[in-house]
Amino acid sequence: MQSIEFPQPKADKEAHSERMRLRAFLENEVRAGSFDPLMSSWTTFDRDFSRKLGAAGFIGVSLPCEFGGGGKSFSVRHAIMEELLAAGAPVGAHWMAERQSAMQIVHYGSASAKNELLPRIIAGTCYFGIGVSEPNAGSDLAAARTSARKVDGGWLLNGSKIWTTNGNKTDYLLVLARTSAKAEQRHEGFTQFIVDMQSPGVEVRPIYDLNNDAEFAEEVFINCFVPDDYVLGEIDKGWGVVLSELVFERSGPDRLLTSFQLLQALETRLSLSGNGHDAESEIGRMIAHLATLRRMSMGVSSLIEAKQPASLQAALVKDLGAVFEREVPELARDLVSVSLARGATIDSFTNAVTQGIMRAPSWSIRGGAREILRGMIARELGLR
Ligand SMILES: Cc1cc2nc3c(=O)[nH]c(=O)nc-3n(C[C@H](O)[C@H](O)[C@H](O)COP(=O)(O)OP(=O)(O)OC[C@H]3O[C@@H](n4cnc5c(N)ncnc54)[C@H](O)[C@@H]3O)c2cc1C
Repeated sequence: MQSIEFPQPKADKEAHSERMRLRAFLENEVRAGSFDPLMSSWTTFDRDFSRKLGAAGFIGVSLPCEFGGGGKSFSVRHAIMEELLAAGAPVGAHWMAERQSAMQIVHYGSASAKNELLPRIIAGTCYFGIGVSEPNAGSDLAAARTSARKVDGGWLLNGSKIWTTNGNKTDYLLVLARTSAKAEQRHEGFTQFIVDMQSPGVEVRPIYDLNNDAEFAEEVFINCFVPDDYVLGEIDKGWGVVLSELVFERSGPDRLLTSFQLLQALETRLSLSGNGHDAESEIGRMIAHLATLRRMSMGVSSLIEAKQPASLQAALVKDLGAVFEREVPELARDLVSVSLARGATIDSFTNAVTQGIMRAPSWSIRGGAREILRGMIARELGLR
């Protein structure tokens, strides 16, 4: 059986100093009442906050300097992501753009797409969504039926995407579409496109959940024109492009730290109530688990920076991270007597536990469902 390497990240002084600079920035923001750490997360869409973060130089720190990025190491990028997540900052507006879309544009985008979009992403003023899932193509992405047909100067897109996080608020979507129907292998013949959500032929339909929140949207494309400059990578080679994007999506600290504020609040609450001693071993177990996951996630970051394959490691981080993140709200409910409730008149802790219990089941589905990830891990280890 193949062994799995998670390289030790190198010590990076700049990562530490940037982390401290960001921590001070976030403390000021919390003091100024710009967000409630227990009530927001990396899917909370707040344009003003993203703009402030961009203006302070905390977005795109590893992107090339020629587009306004910081040109710094992935360790700095990782430290900044961790700090934002640990603080419960409302980074959902720019998160997908910074986490994965910008990287894809750097590697696969045209010169004009880079010049047009990267400076805006880095400024925190341009927001992207992920357009891969379709009504009948989630785990089995190769079943995607959205198609693009070549026309003069670009492509005509037809089809639909679904479950797009913040899809009714983003400016652009990275869309996976079939460009060749005759591919012998079903994974061939796809291409990724940058789609401007304001283009004629795009209809966005918010999806309301049981709480009447519209975290997701469905997008329908009817003869939507996409210029050639908005093609990512080579025509018909989109499968490799989307797989490289999934590594960014699956391995980051957002797969471990969604519930971090709640874990911290739980620990504080138990200490204050005098129940801390009984629960110490449970909290200690969770923190030890988190430390291991953190080390693994940093290892993936090092692999990506060294341009090494990382899909197996990323799948492991995503799967184990989801197990951890789901356990935190359950633990909070077990250790503290909470009557689940949500709303403006309910305290932040109860709101956060309730929110966590309601949302946690979806965390092992987003970014690739558990069974799929485990199948992939088994295959890469030569076990199936
Ligand atoms: C919170 C959240 C955010 C999301 N955000 C986005 C987004 O921004 N953009 C986007 O494109 N998509 C997004 N998605 C969609 C997500 O990627 C899909 O839901 C996911 O890939 C599963 O696809 P599906 O819903 O079609 O379920 P299916 O693929 O139908 O799977 C249903 C169940 O069957 C299991 N299953 C399927 N095939 C197999 C198999 N071969 N072997 C064993 N078990 C199997 C799955 O593991 C799952 O448990 C999001 C989903 C969630 C929950």
